[in-house]
Amino acid sequence: MVSYLNLAAKEARRSHCRFRVGAVLAKGGRVLLSGRNKFRNSSTLDYRIGTFHAEEVLLRRVRPPDRSIMYVARVNVQGDLVMSRPCDRCMEGLLKSGVARVVYTINNDRFGVLDLSTP
Ligand SMILES: [Zn+2]
Repeated sequence: MVSYLNLAAKEARRSHCRFRVGAVLAKGGRVLLSGRNKFRNSSTLDYRIGTFHAEEVLLRRVRPPDRSIMYVARVNVQGDLVMSRPCDRCMEGLLKSGVARVVYTINNDRFGVLDLSTP
């Protein structure tokens, strides 16, 4: 579990956004896709939706298989892991997808888990 968060953190470090977030979609011990948040190609958008969040980037590229797990990590300027709990907009997309669980960083030592599969 931690190694996937490390991979997500590696993706986050490659982000050019102010808030650097990376995500990994995995199932059954395999990485299906990884990515990071990115700017939308438009200057007319509201700043709050001015980026594609890492979770959205992945959900736009693949339809997650059932019981897959999304790992989300955010790094600050010091390179430390910080809170990356998915926002409401991403949660909406995740709930509609086949993702069963989201694992997100809280800080360098802790992570949180959201179980989406319970009806
Ligand atoms: Zn989001």
